[in-house]
Amino acid sequence: MAMENWKPKTELGKRVMEGSVASIDMIFSSGKKIKESEIVDRLLPNMQSEVILIGGSPGKGGGIKRTPTRRTARMHRSGRRFRISAMVVIGNGDGYIGVGKAQALEHRDAIEKATHEAKLNVIPVKRGCGSWECACGTSHSIPAEARGKSGSVTVVLKPAPRGLGLAAADEGKKVLQLAGIRDIWSKSYGNTRARINYVLAILSAFKKLNAMKVHAAGEKEQEEENESETGKNGTKEAAEAGTKEASEAE
Ligand SMILES: [Zn+2]
Repeated sequence: MAMENWKPKTELGKRVMEGSVASIDMIFSSGKKIKESEIVDRLLPNMQSEVILIGGSPGKGGGIKRTPTRRTARMHRSGRRFRISAMVVIGNGDGYIGVGKAQALEHRDAIEKATHEAKLNVIPVKRGCGSWECACGTSHSIPAEARGKSGSVTVVLKPAPRGLGLAAADEGKKVLQLAGIRDIWSKSYGNTRARINYVLAILSAFKKLNAMKVHAAGEKEQEEENESETGKNGTKEAAEAGTKEASEAE
């Protein structure tokens, strides 16, 4: 692995390299921003990735054929300019998840850049069993209901009893699986075919959960400070995702 050749550029990177920062949770509790993907490679070595199918073209028999990347064209004086967009979700299947979006001229570069971005955006996922039917106390679901929004899409995640599985659309299942959640109820509203916003809305719900104080009984209390921060990011992401561009499949 390239890990051997890593020469940390940030103070945080150096501390991870020398071992004085030995867990990703130490970084999250310090509130420091991760600026080198190698930090995540080192502290969360079991990360897996999935490409979110954000592209699509009309299929032969009607319907839409989903594709991993989306090609966008911009008009330019010298003609049309194409760029490839990709969205990647990474997770260790055990409580950590990250999503990244990127554009490049080539399909493979877009996915690579999105994977890099996803590592820099890693967050913890608060898991638990908030299902009153189950109440087993293990971390197969989430501790409380949470709602997230991105653009026109709102997603509500609800704790589910053991054995229910992931009640979500396909791209949502990828995210939930990588987060290490096994049972959940979900509902989504708005233009849920907008997959970028659908995935970002799930992430926004995870961030809300992280900002909640969840008591043993499953009661919840919101921490106002974190709440408004999530809102700000949400708006920014929504604005990006909502940029009008002509899109075709790659
Ligand atoms: Zn349970």
